Parts: sequence; C-alpha cells; structure tokens
Amino acid sequence: MACHFKWLESVMKPFIVFVSIIIILSLTGLSAEVSAEGMEKEGEVTVPILLYHRISNDNSADSRYAVSVTDFKDQMEQLRYWGYTSITIKDLVDHINKGNSLPQRPIVITFDDGNLDVYENAFPIMERYGFTGTVYIVANRLNSEGFLQAEELQELLNHGWEVGSHGMTHTELTQNHALVRNEILQSRLDIEDALGIKVFSFAYPFGTLDWYVSSKVFDYGYRAAVGVGNLTNHSYGTVFNLSRREVQGGIDLEAFAELLPWTNYFLPSPPRKYLPNWWLLIQCI
Ligand SMILES: [Zn+2]
Repeated sequence: MACHFKWLESVMKPFIVFVSIIIILSLTGLSAEVSAEGMEKEGEVTVPILLYHRISNDNSADSRYAVSVTDFKDQMEQLRYWGYTSITIKDLVDHINKGNSLPQRPIVITFDDGNLDVYENAFPIMERYGFTGTVYIVANRLNSEGFLQAEELQELLNHGWEVGSHGMTHTELTQNHALVRNEILQSRLDIEDALGIKVFSFAYPFGTLDWYVSSKVFDYGYRAAVGVGNLTNHSYGTVFNLSRREVQGGIDLEAFAELLPWTNYFLPSPPRKYLPNWWLLIQCI
C-alpha cells in the first residue's frame, strides 16, 4: 500500500506543481489583460466617442458627412466583434462625476444634426447589435422634413438613447456670442417641452467653442458638452468639451479601427480572449 501511495505521490507532485504554475500564469495573464484595457492616467477614463452625421446611401449626400448603410452595418458588426458595449454621454459623465460603473470596452455612438436616416437606417442596425446612441438635434428643425420627428425621438428614448441639443439653428456660436441664450438655453427648453425629458448634454455646432460659449453651456443648465477631436481619454476637466472622433464616409474597416482602442484583427472573438490560458492549452491537446 505504502509503495502504491509513493507512486501516486511521485506522479501527483509534479502534476500539482505543473497545475499551480499554469494557474499562476493564467492569473497573471488575465490581470495583465485587465490593466492593458484601461491605459488611462489617474483621473482619466478611456471611452471612445464616435461622431456620425448621416447614415445614407443617398449619392447626393456629402461623403464626409454620409456613411453608407453597408459601411455602417459593417462598423457596428465589428464593434460587436471587438466586444464593445455602448453607453450614452450621460453614462460617461455620471462615471466621471459620480463614479458610476462602466461596462468593459465602453463606447459612445453619437449622431449630429438629427437627420431622419438616423432613425430609418442607423437605429435598426444598432438594435440588431444591441447598441444605443446619443443624438444631437437642432431645435428649430424638430419635425421638419428630412429630420427626426418627436415620435421617432421618443422611440429612440424608449430604447435607451440620449437626446441632446445641437443649438436652435446650427449657428457657429464663437462667431455669434449675442445668440448664445437663444441657441443654447432656448433650444434646451424647446426640446424638453417637445419630448418631456431633461436634456443633459450639448453638441457645439461645427465643433467650435471658446471659454464664453462653454461657460454659457454650463450656466444654461447642461451637465456636459461634446466637441470634435482625436482623444479617447476623458476626465473631470473635459466634461464640457468631450472629444469625439468623427467617422467620415468612405473609410474602410482598417481606418475605422484606427479611431479606436481595443481592436485587433488577429485575436479570436472577445469572449474567448478572456478565457484563462489553461483552457486554450487544453484545446491544443
Ligand atoms: Zn452639426
């Protein structure tokens, strides 16, 4: 009997050591993965914010401002493949200001100008991939032909979207300081009246702002504002000028990937990526 246990011990000992090493490697591998996800400095959070205008196959649309329906579908499919989860601007700012939790690989998908094709083309595709968006509407275009109607905006809201203001008339505010009250405050009040919601954020028309304009966005009751830029990291100091990366029409998926963190064509699908290394080893046997 003793001899039998000795044999078992001699087999088991190296096995236990081997398993322990594999477990340690798996754990360190996983923690390295987690820390690589958030490459932000203290007080910063990495959340790409995409900016779209039109999602349309209309050839008359300016290609910079119109992403084709097929390209948009491919981009959403790719985001799903990379393991992104959509959040709204309010979710992002609530995380920055209040510490609310965020999902892994968060992304904000925004649309400026309130074109009708956001509802007709982008919304069904995003529903298919489980994404919500944030749409910035121009208050005096509400219910105009070619733009989103109150009922459509209501449906987007019911599906978890955020609706923000993009001004009253889409005027460049840095050139027209006298208009800021109407453009920033009145547009918010009109949208809130029309939709029965509290508007949280503002998108600067043409992405331009100065100190006066951004301070008025704060004074007139908004809690965040979005511009245009190249950054994907945000902090308390950038809440009134959140950088959005514009997705222009006609770009391929490789160029789309360059706008984003956490993309890699060579990795298997994201859920598998988070399996521990020992599982991948077992699969090789
Ligand atoms: Zn605009």
